[in-house]
Amino acid sequence: MIGINTEIIRIEDNDNLLKPAADCLRNGGLVAFPTETVYGLGGNALLAQSAEKIYRVKGRPSDNPLIVHISALDEAEKIGERIPDSFYRMAEAFWPGPLTMIVRRKAEIPYSVTGGLDTVAIRMPSHPIARKLIALAGCPVAAPSANLSGGVSPTLAKHVIQDLNGKIEYIIDGGSAQYGLESTVISLTGDKPVILRPGSITYSMILEILPDTLLHESLIGTVQDLEEKPSSPGMKYKHYSPKAEVFLLYGTDEKIRSYMKEHDSENCCMFLYEKQEKSDFCHTYNLGSDKDLSQSASRIFAYLRDADEKGYQRIYIPAVPEKGVGLALMNRLKKSAAGNSIKL
Ligand code: AMP
Ligand code: MG
Repeated sequence: MIGINTEIIRIEDNDNLLKPAADCLRNGGLVAFPTETVYGLGGNALLAQSAEKIYRVKGRPSDNPLIVHISALDEAEKIGERIPDSFYRMAEAFWPGPLTMIVRRKAEIPYSVTGGLDTVAIRMPSHPIARKLIALAGCPVAAPSANLSGGVSPTLAKHVIQDLNGKIEYIIDGGSAQYGLESTVISLTGDKPVILRPGSITYSMILEILPDTLLHESLIGTVQDLEEKPSSPGMKYKHYSPKAEVFLLYGTDEKIRSYMKEHDSENCCMFLYEKQEKSDFCHTYNLGSDKDLSQSASRIFAYLRDADEKGYQRIYIPAVPEKGVGLALMNRLKKSAAGNSIKL
């Protein structure tokens, strides 16, 4: 696998270019492609060896299941068994889009795709290139984020090139990912629906469709709790970690500012909301308005990667309230910061 020639396809208006990548995917090759959440690393979800290749090139533990991507709703029936009515109500409200649903697995989906579980995660992405690629491939597509395991998810093709060039057959460049955070994951296999991973489809949006939905207990607790009771296999692993050390700062604007001033230096950078004064720090990144956290969500992974490219050693980031998209953003940032959550 390692050392193969990766073809990088830039899709402008000629999407005939997708055909060879789709053929390669169907026949067992790996293709990285843009979605509206982050870039995905796709393989044929019906072939055990494609899933095994995905784990190998990412360095992903093989008990961390993959999400199966589809391009039309009727494909879900070939993947899931005894699909509940709640699945169709959620699909009607949020698909195509950044929502993954977990149902019982059909035997055709290899255990290597589901990490040995009898359940399977399904998503229908809205990105036109993703949809077209899956439809042309003519098979469901198993795709985790197209980064090396443990690192920061890719929101631009250049991030995928940094991590996977020479290891997979194709990388499709479709520009910048719209949402920038991975999909919301909800399990529909228990008595009540449970959100396992927060994302851009928020808890309150889901409650409007399925009012008895619960948040997994690890999403309400602390970082330490997360290590003890992961919500799904993937959530127990180190994740979203740049090389730099990340510090997540909890406190008022004034306290955060004075802490940042004390710790500012040439080898650090500060992630700031628009309202925060930038002029007296060495290096800053603009997270946009704290009234609309979808902006910060769409920028955060690219900033973490850029900070590494610039060689900064420490990154300081203000914490935000864990509501709406803030719940998803903080879920990722707490993992990036590992033990470095600082209450001011
Ligand atoms: P990624 O592919 O990097 O977006 O990660 C997919 C996420 O979905 C991981 O956190 C997985 O653990 C989770 N996931 C996928 N399939 C299942 C499943 N059958 N049960 C529980 N969680 C799942
Ligand atoms: Mg991932």
